[in-house]
Amino acid sequence: MNHIRILAEKVASQIAAGEVVERPASVVRELLDNSIDAGAGRIRVSVEGGGKRQIRVADDGSGMSKDDLLLCVERHATSKIKSVSDLFAIKTLGFRGEALPSIASVSKMDVTSRPVQDLSGHRLKTAGGRLVSIEETGCPTGTSVMVRDLFYNVPARKKFLRTPGTEMDHITDTFSRWALPYSEIDFRLESNNQTLLHFPATENQRYRLSTLLGRRVADAMLEATEKTDGLEIDAYLAPWEFSRKRGDRVFFYINGRNIRDRYLTRAILEGYGQRLMKGQYPQIAVFMNIDPSEIDINVHPTKQEVRFHNGRIVFQVIVRMIERCLSSAFKGFLDKEFSGSEPPPPFPAGEPPQRPFSTPIPFREEPPEAEPRITKDVPLVIGNLGNTYILCQARDGLLMVDQHAAHERIVYETLKKGLLKGRLQVQTLLIPKELEFSLKEAKILNESSELLSRFGIELEHFGGNTFLLRAIPVLLERVVWEDFLSELVPEIRKSRPEDNRTIDEILSVMACHGAVRGGHTLTAQEMTHLLSQLLEMDLPSNCPHGRPIFRYLHYQEIEKMFKRSV
Ligand code: ADP
Ligand code: MG
Repeated sequence: MNHIRILAEKVASQIAAGEVVERPASVVRELLDNSIDAGAGRIRVSVEGGGKRQIRVADDGSGMSKDDLLLCVERHATSKIKSVSDLFAIKTLGFRGEALPSIASVSKMDVTSRPVQDLSGHRLKTAGGRLVSIEETGCPTGTSVMVRDLFYNVPARKKFLRTPGTEMDHITDTFSRWALPYSEIDFRLESNNQTLLHFPATENQRYRLSTLLGRRVADAMLEATEKTDGLEIDAYLAPWEFSRKRGDRVFFYINGRNIRDRYLTRAILEGYGQRLMKGQYPQIAVFMNIDPSEIDINVHPTKQEVRFHNGRIVFQVIVRMIERCLSSAFKGFLDKEFSGSEPPPPFPAGEPPQRPFSTPIPFREEPPEAEPRITKDVPLVIGNLGNTYILCQARDGLLMVDQHAAHERIVYETLKKGLLKGRLQVQTLLIPKELEFSLKEAKILNESSELLSRFGIELEHFGGNTFLLRAIPVLLERVVWEDFLSELVPEIRKSRPEDNRTIDEILSVMACHGAVRGGHTLTAQEMTHLLSQLLEMDLPSNCPHGRPIFRYLHYQEIEKMFKRSV
């Protein structure tokens, strides 16, 4: 059973001070913390009027005795820590002893509670932080906290509350975030006497995820685990196809506590890397357990921020775990789905495209006369749609490949590997090409000749706005140079030479210009060669901007379209 004590002044003074009750959802958050800490097996949240009229959180946890009830609304009264040193090893969600008194001071709050071993319970009534009454009452074991008329005595704060609908959205979000990791607890959320969400208790974390994210996403999620000294991570990662414009489905937990942290979100985004388009977020749940002495949770009153003693290491562990999980999953996917087991037969009877190339094909690295090397597992090319999408017969359906995105990836990775190994293939032009730029562009290009030459572009100022292009990377032979360099200027301007992101962004622009365009006719052999090169890439699923390179239609989906099956 609990024993609530008032914290000594020297402990209390070390706790991050500040307001915890901003809106109804903060009340729900604090009360859920308490019910989970009390070891509840069932928690029911009932809300009326978006929580402005009433919030009730009932649990079947440890309950409180009459003495504890009287103490729980005092400031710095907690059963969860005693000393300053406990602050550095927090295992419970609560520890500040501030939530109930804060909520009580801005509402009419009743706490009804009965510990398991007692035959009857007690009800404590408060209003505006003052004790109204405490009386014995019959009630189930556990605790029920009823909060009415939030901010009734603080009109200035009440004014800032939004519509019941908006406040309810915040409550639903908080409720879901809190329920996700505690799959062994049955959670129910009711609004105006209707059940909005019910998460039945389950031993299966994926099942809890599916009640929250839907079955399609939960089934598609990949599982990653990581175990290092003092650090254990279990994560569920939705493939990039399920990405969203908002980070509302990034769930991060440290020792069962929901954390919202920019740094950790950045680690997740870095792990997904170029699988995401700019501004997109994945759907992901990360459950991290770490020795509580390795972190400081006493940073912010809402306890949703954390400081690591070894933040950089944690960051790296997360990035690598995600990278490994996503890339191995892709390879498995390819083996299973895409690659025909037989070698590709020659191009079928349909004539190869008629329009001859005036120049050699753009993506070939070898001299044109050399036979392109074809990986044996390349899917069979059956045609091309609109001179833009390569269509392939894959083992269990139809594979569509965006030729531009695919070639962009190839040019990007080839350039990057060349650059990193210091073996970028550069060609010196026999006759330098004269290029004109705007005054502004000329100034920036003039200052960046060193940076450009690292990327294999030798540009020499010829006076005024004119430059001479003397050498270029072999892969970019057919680029329209004025257009390309004009687009590169903004990237150069914001660049910081040693930053990896700068390199990636410059390479992305190079790849985009160097790649074969949609609408450009490719021969069957060129398409097969393109696919073969693509399969050798580290990240064959997305172009450097995160756009998908291919889409796959399984026979089952095709049969559904034609009503051959349901
Ligand atoms: P904290 O959670 O930081 O300790 P609170 O003000 O939220 O502070 O709660 C004060 C104390 O009241 C807790 O330490 C706990 O002992 C008791 N308490 C609060 N809610 C419950 C509950 N649902 N079940 C059992 N005990 C509770
Ligand atoms: Mg608490």
